[in-house]
Amino acid sequence: MTAKNFICPNGEQVTIEQCLAGCVYGHACIARPTLYSLAAGCRDRKLDRFSVTELIRGARESYLMKINDYAIDPMSLVFSTFGTAVHKAQELAALKAQ
Ligand code: SF4
Repeated sequence: MTAKNFICPNGEQVTIEQCLAGCVYGHACIARPTLYSLAAGCRDRKLDRFSVTELIRGARESYLMKINDYAIDPMSLVFSTFGTAVHKAQELAALKAQ
């Protein structure tokens, strides 16, 4: 399945759609453009094979994430989103070098 909720700094959960429509607390914990980017990275990407992250994740955790919707702290997505951007830059550099 996919991430449906963000876990706010106070521990409460809100749907990602609610968060992106406007922070329910009136003061976003992360800049809105960053929230959009983080949300895009945790949606179902319809991958037809394992992602690198899934390969380094425990089998039980991967299985549970496949069969359940779940909540995630947006701050915990920052480095994976950064990693995705770095991988994309490397791919583009490799293509240019060919
Ligand atoms: S911006 Fe942060 S605090 Fe506000 S709803 Fe979204 S996750 Fe929660």
